[in-house]
Amino acid sequence: MARGRPLTDLTGHRYGHLTVIERVGTKNHRPTWRCLCDCGNEHTTTGANLRAAIKGTQSCGCLRTQMRIEQARRMREAKRQHPPTGNARRYGWLYS
Ligand SMILES: [Zn+2]
Repeated sequence: MARGRPLTDLTGHRYGHLTVIERVGTKNHRPTWRCLCDCGNEHTTTGANLRAAIKGTQSCGCLRTQMRIEQARRMREAKRQHPPTGNARRYGWLYS
């Protein structure tokens, strides 16, 4: 079965937030892989893309959204924890 297989089997490999489930076909003469993202979404991409993404963080595309949400959450908390006017100078370094 594995004999003569021309490509590396990426099944089960993990790249960033993506875990490769199976090969689904070929796109632009490159093997494409169906991956499961940590968020639960499925994402299909090429092996070259996956390998290139090892350095960075790869996801189905949810990561950017997640970072925006996280950033908004932190800003909300920072606002909530903002000290009364009298202490603003004392705690100013927190917000610089
Ligand atoms: Zn995702």
